[in-house]
Amino acid sequence: MSDPSIRLLPADPTRPRRAHIPCERAWRWRSLVEDDRLTPGVTVFVTQRAYVRICAHAGSDLYNEVGGWLVGKWRADRSTNVPFIVVEAILPAPHTRHGSAYLTFTQDTQVSLYDELKERYPNKELVGWYHTHPRMGIFLSEYDVWLHHNFFPEPYHVALVVEPHSTTAGFFIRQHDGTLDSRYYFGFHELHHRNRRSVVHWRNMFPQTSLA
Ligand SMILES: [Zn+2]
Repeated sequence: MSDPSIRLLPADPTRPRRAHIPCERAWRWRSLVEDDRLTPGVTVFVTQRAYVRICAHAGSDLYNEVGGWLVGKWRADRSTNVPFIVVEAILPAPHTRHGSAYLTFTQDTQVSLYDELKERYPNKELVGWYHTHPRMGIFLSEYDVWLHHNFFPEPYHVALVVEPHSTTAGFFIRQHDGTLDSRYYFGFHELHHRNRRSVVHWRNMFPQTSLA
């Protein structure tokens, strides 16, 4: 038996490259449960294109859990050093075992997605994963937490849960000390192009500032 906890690391796993954090091109969405009790260890940006793809995959099966990888960039802001990720694309997972209440990423899933990442997006990195919870709500199960720590162990790896029936979602993000709360989920920054409208329609997310 091979070790299921395959680790997929970026070229330099210890330090993100420096870049300008794109706050002025993003709208901040807060989740229903965010009360500033917890601070995310990494700031999450999602491009509108990636958001639309996530929703399309999440809504493609309303009875069984589906999921995949979130890929994009891991960076630190040039002036403040604040770490952030930009979710730019998704890779739906093959070789999963799934049912109405569970989704398992196998080692075959991880290897196949890693190959696809290298081939389709050689300049992007794995920044997290997403999966759906049809009619179950937004939380991480004990198994989800196990999977997150074993398959997505980097401090900047995030877990997104989407509930396609109620059209709700949430990002689970490690604290700076590495701890992860399985019930407390965050919103994100919607990275928009100028002159475009918001595409976010998750009902448990609220714009922090008025949308342009
Ligand atoms: Zn789950």
